[in-house]
Amino acid sequence: MGMMDGIDVLVSEVGPRDGLQSIRPVMPTAAKLRWIDALVAAGVREIEVGSFVPAQLLPQLADTGEVVRAVKARHPSLHVAVLVPNAKGAEAALAAGADKLTLPLSASETHSLKNLRRTHAQVFEEVARIVDLLSAVPGGQRPQFEGAVSTAFGCTLEGEVADTKVVALAERLIALGCDEVGLSDTSGYANPAQVRRLVKAVHAAIGPERMTGLHLHNTRGLGLANVVAGLEVGITTFDSSQGGLGGCPFAPGASGNIVTEDLVFMLEAMGLRTGIAPEGLEAARAVLAEALPGEPLYGFVPEAGLPLGFRRAA
Ligand code: ZN
Repeated sequence: MGMMDGIDVLVSEVGPRDGLQSIRPVMPTAAKLRWIDALVAAGVREIEVGSFVPAQLLPQLADTGEVVRAVKARHPSLHVAVLVPNAKGAEAALAAGADKLTLPLSASETHSLKNLRRTHAQVFEEVARIVDLLSAVPGGQRPQFEGAVSTAFGCTLEGEVADTKVVALAERLIALGCDEVGLSDTSGYANPAQVRRLVKAVHAAIGPERMTGLHLHNTRGLGLANVVAGLEVGITTFDSSQGGLGGCPFAPGASGNIVTEDLVFMLEAMGLRTGIAPEGLEAARAVLAEALPGEPLYGFVPEAGLPLGFRRAA
């Protein structure tokens, strides 16, 4: 089955990575697996389950290899995504059997140095090494490789990020051999007009089939507005996190990633099929809440409930 069979929009759940890395408690592996099981039961097709970074940097994700292996064994058709900061991480991801590798490249070089401790040139070297690694994998088993341009809509350290810079980085990632490019609003700076403008510019440079996904945060409340803008210019994959897990350290009360429950409700209400059942998400949220007692979970739909007479897109 293809990833987009029977659906219009792919909602890619990143809570087990982006959410869990942003909170202090370490969720035990067994609890992660229970949560992922519940998400899959709800109809989620792609989940970013972790990140292959050194355990001392992110103890919350130290079990990523184990999680990938266990999830692949339990859910063979789930698209299991992981973040890899470098070629070493990619090797571990390959060994574990991940289906998708995402390498973050910060559009802001200041942010890149602070976050990955690498210049753009150094990140490109890692990209080339990963492409080499992947080229040795037989065709049918080769995972998808995405270069994700983070801070694409603005940076907390540098401020404005020029569209031309993002476009040039996207072109370079494709030239080096990435299958596709994603854009991430890491800092929650994006607005809908900017989303339309930047997506169009990147599409014009590398082709719409090479840039299908957006990773949006809801720091300033524009997450879902930015999703609609993305839909209008042909984006078909959106990252989100159940319960907006992790929140935003700079904006108390704001979720971190856009909230999966609210995103799925909006898309289905608009007549766009996600393959995900809101009731299933409710069950998964209960599993998550039990595993992380006291950790705030966000979302309007979970609080208000579904509207009377709500029907999913057919
Ligand atoms: Zn993020």
